[in-house]
Amino acid sequence: MRKPIYFKNYENGNLIKIKDDLYKNLKKCNLCPVNCGIDRTANKGVCGAEDKVKISEYVLYPGEEPPLTGKTGAGGVFFSGCSMKCVYCQNFRFSQEGFGRNVSVEELSEIYMKIQNEKKAVNLDLVTATPYLPFIVDALILAIEKGFNLPIVWNTSSFEKPEIIEILGNFIDIYLPDIRYTSNIIAKKFSFISNYWDTCKKALKEMYNQIGDDYILNEENILQRGIIIRILVLPNHTFLAKEALTYIKYDLSEKIHVSLMDQYVPVYKARDIEKLSRFLNKKEYDDVVKHMVDLELENGWIQEHKLKEE
Ligand code: SF4
Repeated sequence: MRKPIYFKNYENGNLIKIKDDLYKNLKKCNLCPVNCGIDRTANKGVCGAEDKVKISEYVLYPGEEPPLTGKTGAGGVFFSGCSMKCVYCQNFRFSQEGFGRNVSVEELSEIYMKIQNEKKAVNLDLVTATPYLPFIVDALILAIEKGFNLPIVWNTSSFEKPEIIEILGNFIDIYLPDIRYTSNIIAKKFSFISNYWDTCKKALKEMYNQIGDDYILNEENILQRGIIIRILVLPNHTFLAKEALTYIKYDLSEKIHVSLMDQYVPVYKARDIEKLSRFLNKKEYDDVVKHMVDLELENGWIQEHKLKEE
């Protein structure tokens, strides 16, 4: 069985050093590209995070791509807060409205163990976890000492600093990044952040520097190391998804696995934004699928929900 990369960095002492350095961000946080510099021991950051871990839930999650799900499911831990403020966020109750409960580092390590030993998940799937990185590494060290051995999935919007991705390389084997937009202007409009696309490209490059075209499955076809890029096609904005696919092909690697998603739902503030206030239609999705086929991007998945005709 292939060992996750964090074992090496636990044994050589790197993880402890990384954890100690990351904790310095609690006094002046610059963990994400917002760089709000807040003292989290006294105030909430722009993302809503304070100086404790806050999670919404941890679940056995069957909805990820097949090699991340297997027969049982991914072991999802959903964190509270987010530095992006997407108007169509399906998780807005915990990502933007602060729903969740505080857990200690010890409890978080126990959650990792329950995901492995009770839920029998095939991985630990950390969803929008960046603001809680110091605690996540701290809990990982405790869990390793209790026998934790699952590969860890970094499930991210890709609004990440490349230097943070570099640090993740010490304990993350699987990246599950989105490309949400290929336009800084549209990202500002729908997610209220600056420089999304410039930032996303640098983060993706760093992920690719670490993993390359590796796509390592175990004997049960469960992913142990690799990158899967997700693209959620937005109604009236199919050009964004097409540009993202073109970028993957020509600027990253045609071998990367792509998950093209048709499941956009007009929720939260999107209901009041004309161009986002409806579901995707079949013609729009087919147009993006055709582009993917034309580019000969052969690795990945295309969703096939029943979409309405125009
Ligand atoms: S992670 Fe949160 S607190 Fe830290 S820089 Fe980003 S928005 Fe600010």
